[in-house]
Order: sequence, then structure tokens, then C-alpha cells
Amino acid sequence: MSLKGKTALVTGSTSGIGLGLALALARQGASIVLNGFGDVEGAKAQVAALGVAVQYHGADMSKPAEIEAMMAFAAAQAGGVDILVNNAGIQHVANVEDFPAERWDAIIAINLSSAFHTSRLAIPALRARNWGRIINIASAHGLVASAGKSAYVAAKHGIVGLTKASALELATTGVTVNAICPGWVLTPLVQKQIDARAARDGLSGDEARVALLGEKQPSLQFTTPEQLGELAVFLCSAAADNVRGVAWAVDGGWTAQ
Ligand code: NAD
Repeated sequence: MSLKGKTALVTGSTSGIGLGLALALARQGASIVLNGFGDVEGAKAQVAALGVAVQYHGADMSKPAEIEAMMAFAAAQAGGVDILVNNAGIQHVANVEDFPAERWDAIIAINLSSAFHTSRLAIPALRARNWGRIINIASAHGLVASAGKSAYVAAKHGIVGLTKASALELATTGVTVNAICPGWVLTPLVQKQIDARAARDGLSGDEARVALLGEKQPSLQFTTPEQLGELAVFLCSAAADNVRGVAWAVDGGWTAQ
């Protein structure tokens, strides 16, 4: 259990990729601080079943004051954060001229600015301990764009930039900062887009799923939260001590095209 004695805080970890990352880190013995909305008790039970300590804070990642409260909670109740995973994210699809301004603000706040706030609050203690991992969940959309996703693409390119800048600032310390850039992962966030496509094009759920993959992801396979979890475990290992500031695609070839 390589992460015994470490605490991992994963934002947006009540579902999808965040929960998968939390479970993978818990399997390595890390204590977990969960965050997010929805089925909190179900997520807590899945982590607790792995025999590690699990706590939860319900901070809304669009609200800096609540993020500060969450980081103070983690310091006081969980012994501080050794591994920070910035994962919370939302999506909205519309062309720029039709994009509701409040959706733009929410996506930038939740998908990008929250990672700045958690990072600025976590880094002093990570520096002091001279060990730490910050893993930012970006996206293939941190590397390339798609029409209709201006806010998401801007936020994800932004988080790749934040990853590189903070990795450089911490380059001579034991604290590494890296981004993971998944392609399509079948989570509630993506299921909504499959449902919208099925309704728009008169397709069955299966047909819409195949059409979605075929457009972008050459492997025609979804990336799984478990695969992303194993990459996060690697990034936490000593073998990754000198992996710094990368944006690591796990996208079935999407960005190789
Ligand atoms: P999801 O909808 O299954 O999970 C999102 C999580 O974020 C949930 O726990 C939700 O409660 C939480 N959340 C949403 N708004 C929040 C807020 N204001 N404050 C706190 N928590 C909040 O989505 P997912 O697909 O698992 O996405 C997780 C991350 O992975 C996101 O950053 C997303 O952009 C990224 N990503 C997803 C895919 C994909 O194909 N699913 C691909 C690339 C990147």
C-alpha cells in the first residue's frame, strides 16, 4: 500500500472520474477527503469499504470562500492534504453567440479557478513537507478544441497552463504538478451529451454512443475511471518524481490525429 499515511483530497468525487480516482488512491492506502454533490453516502461507503479513513466536505467549487473552508477542514480534520486532485467539472454546449454568460462564468469558476484556489491554499504545506502531488484533471479539450464548447475548452486549456506554471514554480521541490487529459469517459457528464445527441438525431442510445466515439476517439473505446485512477497512482509514485508539468492524454488517439 504505497500511499499509506497520505491524505488525498479529490474535488468532485461523488461520481464519475473523481470517484474512480478516489477509489484508486484509497486502494493504495491513502485517506480520502471527498467533495461534490449528489450521492455522498454512496461514495463514502465505497471508499470506506476499502478500509481507509474517509471524510467529506460539500464546498461548492464555484465559491472561493467555500473552497477556503474545505481546505481548512482538510488541514484540521484530515491532517492536511498530501495529494490534491482537482477534478470537479461541468459542461455546457452552445455556440459562442448563444452561450449564456452565467454558464461561461460557472464553467470557468468550477473547471479552472477552483484549481487555482485549492492549489494556492495547499502549496505552502506541501512545500513545507517537501512532498506532494497536484493532479489536475484537464481533458483532450485542454489540447484541442471542439465547436460548441468554448468555455470548457478555454477552462481546460487554462488548467493545462496552470499545471505548467505551478510545476515550474515547484520544480526544485518534492511537489509535482501534472495534468491528465482524458478523452471520452462514460460518466453522467458524457451520458447527458449522448442523450442530447440521440434526441437531436433520432438515434437509439447505442447508436448515439457509437456516433459520439466515432467522431473523435479512434480506439472507439471509452477511457475508464479505473484507468485514470491507475495513472494517478503512478503519478503519486517515486517513479514519477521527475514527471513535471505534463498534460498526459488518455484519449484513445483523439489528440494524435
Ligand atoms: P461527473 O458529472 O460524473 O462528475 C462531476 C463531479 O463534480 C461530481 O462529483 C459533481 O458533484 C461535482 N461537481 C459539479 N459541480 C460542482 C461544484 N460546483 N462544486 C463541487 N463539486 C461539483 O463528471 P465526470 O465526467 O466524472 O468529470 C470529472 C472531470 O473530468 C471534469 O473536470 C471533466 O471536465 C473531466 N473530464 C471528463 C471527461 C469525460 O468524458 N467524462 C473527459 C475529459 C475530462
